This record gives sequence, structure tokens and C-alpha cells, in this order.
Amino acid sequence: MRMKLSRQTVSLILLGIVAVGCGRQGTDSGASESRPAPTVDAARLLAASGDKENWLTHGRTYDEQRFSTLDQVSTGNVSELGLAWHFDIPTKRGVEATPIIVDGRMFVTGSWSILYALDAATGRELWQFDPKVDKAWARYGCCDVVNRGVAVWGDSVFLGTFDGYLVAIDAASGEERWRTDTIGRKPPYTITGAPRVIDGLVIIGNGGAEFGVRGYVSAYSAETGALVWRFHTVPGNPEAGFENDAMAEAAKTWKGEWWTFGGGGTVWDSMAYDPELKLLYIGTGNGSPWNQGIRSPGGGDNLFLSSIVALRPDSGEYVWHYQTTPGETWDYTATQHLVLAELEIDGTTRSVIMQAPKNGFFYVLDRETGEFLSAKNYVPVNWATHIDPDSGRPVEIADARWPGKPPHLQLPGPLGGHNWHPMSFSPATGLVYIPAQELPFVYGDEAEFQFKDGAWNTGANMAFASFPTDEATFAAVKASMKGRLLAWDPVKQAAAWSFEHAGPWNGGVLSTSGGLVFQGTADAHFAAYDASTGEQLWKFFSQTGVVAAPVSYSIDGEQFVAVAAGWGGSYALAYGGVMATDSEARVGRVLAFKLNAEGALPPVLPFPPSPVKPPEPTAAPETVAAGFHAYTTYCIVCHGDHAQSSGLTPNLRYTPALASTELWSSIVRDGVRAQLGMPGYSDLIDADMAEAIRAYVIAEANSERDSAYYESVGGE
Ligand code: CA
Repeated sequence: MRMKLSRQTVSLILLGIVAVGCGRQGTDSGASESRPAPTVDAARLLAASGDKENWLTHGRTYDEQRFSTLDQVSTGNVSELGLAWHFDIPTKRGVEATPIIVDGRMFVTGSWSILYALDAATGRELWQFDPKVDKAWARYGCCDVVNRGVAVWGDSVFLGTFDGYLVAIDAASGEERWRTDTIGRKPPYTITGAPRVIDGLVIIGNGGAEFGVRGYVSAYSAETGALVWRFHTVPGNPEAGFENDAMAEAAKTWKGEWWTFGGGGTVWDSMAYDPELKLLYIGTGNGSPWNQGIRSPGGGDNLFLSSIVALRPDSGEYVWHYQTTPGETWDYTATQHLVLAELEIDGTTRSVIMQAPKNGFFYVLDRETGEFLSAKNYVPVNWATHIDPDSGRPVEIADARWPGKPPHLQLPGPLGGHNWHPMSFSPATGLVYIPAQELPFVYGDEAEFQFKDGAWNTGANMAFASFPTDEATFAAVKASMKGRLLAWDPVKQAAAWSFEHAGPWNGGVLSTSGGLVFQGTADAHFAAYDASTGEQLWKFFSQTGVVAAPVSYSIDGEQFVAVAAGWGGSYALAYGGVMATDSEARVGRVLAFKLNAEGALPPVLPFPPSPVKPPEPTAAPETVAAGFHAYTTYCIVCHGDHAQSSGLTPNLRYTPALASTELWSSIVRDGVRAQLGMPGYSDLIDADMAEAIRAYVIAEANSERDSAYYESVGGE
């Protein structure tokens, strides 16, 4: 269904066409010129489900099902799918965006929050918008300098930037209209999520709960960028007074002086909206610090951490909540994808909200009341036996609550049984398709925790994030790390089928009326599966790991399936190098496919370039050990386990800077490469510590595995 054109809309379209004509300065001509400038209003978004041609909002529809009703590409002909076009996104960092498609135009983001407007039929660039993110802000991101996409409303595109701005951009010209600071310029907040727009309000949250922040979600006027409402997810200092009754109630579930650490609960990704119930659903993140013994000594549920919270979208007023992980202490966020659907349960049609949060359980709730309906683990878990059906609370295993106890190995770990990678619900099969994974982690106390501004503040000893170096243990750990496309029956709470991938951290999912499920993988493929059986029907070598979710749209009667490819994110940064399930290429790209197309990608460029042989290891073992501790505290999450980067960030083992104390220090401490994304850490890392880290990396670079590597690539 298409909207009726109001006089105002018509004039905006006319203005849009004029603006496109001016901005492009007649560089070339293409199909998009005959198309109207994109406009989206409430009626269009409410009717998005029947609007086959477009992908108007992050999850395609407000219920966020990520189900395309297009059926031209089907189980019968998907083998004829070919590359229609590709568009290079010049980045080596992660690409996590879901493209938005409005009337033949695609709006897609790369890393550093850079936005590209493309002709969706050809991939031709119409304009790009670089918000000029302060790259020194990289140190405030837990999980790569990524962006998951934009929202369109009226004739504006809305972009959240990594350094915390919300920006409105003219959809026709790419000119900035307004820019609002959502964080009061307070690091370590970031934005990586996609905004949603409801009735003229642009809604956006933040990240930062690994560092020490208080979570909130905000709504801004699409017209002016003025703040309309803000809902905090955890209580602040009681002495300052609570913002609302919900915060006063939540404060009763906290102990100690949690506000001095921030508390966490950031709304960094998922939202959904039910227009009939007039409820906005948000998913909230982990506690900050993770360690509840520090954050809220003596326990408590710590509302609204790791919760699904229902709010009034026009006011931000609290309506109900369901907490997936009471007293969260494992980084078990409930920011994972929220999906609304109607399910037949015990003979009754229930309006439900579904989530597969990090904690490993799949939840079905009544979305009007928040009533717990059912939950079952969708991956192996060893922190809780089950979710109690009466209370809706997990029944924890005694030693799972790690603060103050000996370190132990747990499933899932902080990367979750499912992370941000969107899942998909097909009303045709009644199945939810989950990018599921098994990533264990050793949780243990950080000795002598001290809160440090602008640093990771988890209260967990991050040295446990580093794999053991002996080959047998490493092989066992590697074998235990798994990833699969899991088709889950939400009524039966059981797997219908699953397809095992080479490893974890695979892409988001799309399902279609063609009976297909599409997903990219960490090992650089993009594939189609039979939605009913899980049989893999088609596969394309994408040259780089795919973590983002695909979309489908149609132009002039032709169905396209597109995905933003580009290996990245937290797992890729920390473990991509040692796990090596990814490909050698490091280029971001939008890939668009249609039937009978015969496009091809250019050959893969050699990667990595010839390494520089590191200096001989001469440091004392205790210096190397101190360097290991500092490395796992400050460096591992971006430069990789054992200083073995997967190529997203410079591989420290091969950097010429290793050879020089002065050069090393100028980068690590003084930040001479801050605007290349390597901020200085002189506030946290003193000269001795920097030198110890250098000694540790030199030791790693001289390991046996690397000697073999130098020989294999002919390094000097
Ligand atoms: Ca987290």
C-alpha cells in the first residue's frame, strides 16, 4: 500500500528532485533520477508489511520480523541467483548495517558512522555523508567502530554517530540538517545502533556499559532535533532525586553506591513497536561493572538491567518490564533483537514479544502485559538449569555467580549464545531463525579493582579472555567454539533444524515468502537455505566475513537480496586472528543479488602484506608477564588475543613500531595516531607499562607459530 500524497509531500519531493539535480552536477545519469526523492511517513511505516518493494525501517516493519513478502526468488530458482552489483565501502573495520531501501534508493552505513546513499538498482553512489567522528573516540567502544544503520522519516535520514551525535541528513542531497549531542559530550558513551522513528520522534540509545555509564534511551523531534523525552534504565544517585516512579522502584533492587560506577543497562541496539498497543519495546544491557559484588554488594535484581522494557513512545513513560537475568553479572545483555508476532499457543492466539538474549534462553512473553509465557535454552548453558515457569526467573547453578569465587568456565560467555546479529521470524513457517553460537568464557575476579575513568571497568580479570597457549588446550577451546543457523519453533520451544557453520560470529538473518532464509558467515560466504528443512541451496564467496543482516527489495519487478559485507565486531577483533575462520580480504562492500545476474567481484588482494620481522626477545620474563597483564587489560579487545589481529586493526606483531621504544610510546601513550583510530592512553599506561606491553608483543611475535608464518610468506 502506498501513501496518499499530501501537498506538503509533493512539494518536498519536488524540492528533493531539485536538490539531487544540483548536488550531482550532472556527473552521470541513471534510473534513480526518474524516481522521486524518498519520503516516509507514519502511514507508510504502518503499512510497511505489505510494501514489498521497500525496506523502510531497521527490522523492515515495526514488529522487526525481518521477513520479506517477496517471492520471485524461491527455493526452486535460488540457484540462479547472481551478483547484480557491488559497492565498495573503503574500510577495514566492521560493517554491521542493515540497509534501508526507499523507492529505489539505498541508505547504508560503514564503519565510523559514514553513510552512503546508493541507487538500489545499480549500486551507483548518489552521495555520501561523513559525520567526521572523532577517531580518538575509538577507545570508548567495546566492540569495534561499527554502525548498524539509519532511519528515514519525511525526507530526512537519521544517523547515530559513534561519538554520540544524532544527525538529520537531507535524503535527497546528503546535506546535514541538524545535529544533536545525545551524550552531553560525556565519554565513554557511544552510539552503534540504528535509530527508529515513531510519529515524528527519533528514538536512540547508547553504548558504554563496559566502561562505566548509566543507560538511557532518548526521543528527539525529527523536525528540530530537540529532546522530547529520556528514560533512564537504571537509577541514579538517590540524593539527586529520581526522575520518575519507575526509577524509585528500581532503586529498591540495588545496594551500595552503584551510581558511582554508572550501573549500566545501556540501550545499544534493539527496539520494537506495537502501534495498536502504543508500546515501544527496548532491550537493556549488562551491569556496569559486570561484577555485581562491586556494583551492588549484597546482590539485588538491579532493575532494569538485562530487561525488556515497554514504554509509551510519545512520553517515555514506563509500562512494564521483564528481566531476563536478575542481578546480572556475566555481561548477559538483553539488547538482542526483539521480534513481535502472533503465535497460536494452547489454542489461543497470543500477541507475543520474543528474544534470544545473550544468556542462552529463548523467551516468549505476552507483549501487552509482559507476562512470562515460556523460555527454553537455545544453546548449551551451564549457569542456570532452567527458567522457573511460575516466577519466570532463572534457577541458577550454585557456582555460576562468580564474584568472590574461584574462576570458572561458563557457557555462554560475554559474547552470548546470540549477540546483536539480527534473527528473523517467518510467519509462513512459524520459525525464528537465530544466528546462534557457543562461546565459553572464564569468569574470575579482577584483583584490587579500582574504577578508572575511560577504561574498561568490568571487575573481571580479562586475562582469562586470553586462550591458553599450549596447542592441545588451544585446540580443545577452539573446538568448543561453535556457530550455527538455528531454526527455532517458539511455540514448542525446540529446534526445528540447524545448520552448523565453521565457527561462531556469523551474520544476521533474513527470511522470505520464497521459502528461503539468507545468512552470511564468518568464513566469508553468503548463502540461502530452505526455510523448512535447513538445506543449503545456494552459496556465494563474499571474500570477507559477513556479520550484518541481509535485506530484500524490488525495483521494476525484479527482486534483489542485498547484504553489507565486512568482517568485524567484538569477536572478530579479539579472536578473529587466532580462530581464523574469516577470509583474507579486508574490504567492506554492499553485495546485491538478483536472478540470472552474472557479476563478479574483483580478485582478492593479498593479505596481509609482508610482515616486518620483530626484534629479538630480550626482556625479563617478569616484564613480559606484566606486559601480558596490561595487554589483556587495555589492548586485547581491539588488537586480538595473543596480539594476533585479524586485520581489522594493525597486527602489532608486524608493526615496525615494535623496534623502537620512542615510536611505540608516541603511539600507545601520546596518541600520534589518534585520528587513525588509535587513541593515546597516557592517562592509564605509564612509560614502564608501555614498555612491558612492547616486550610482551615482541615475545608473542617470536612464538613458534609466527616463525612458521614468516617462512610461509617469505618474510625477512
Ligand atoms: Ca556488554
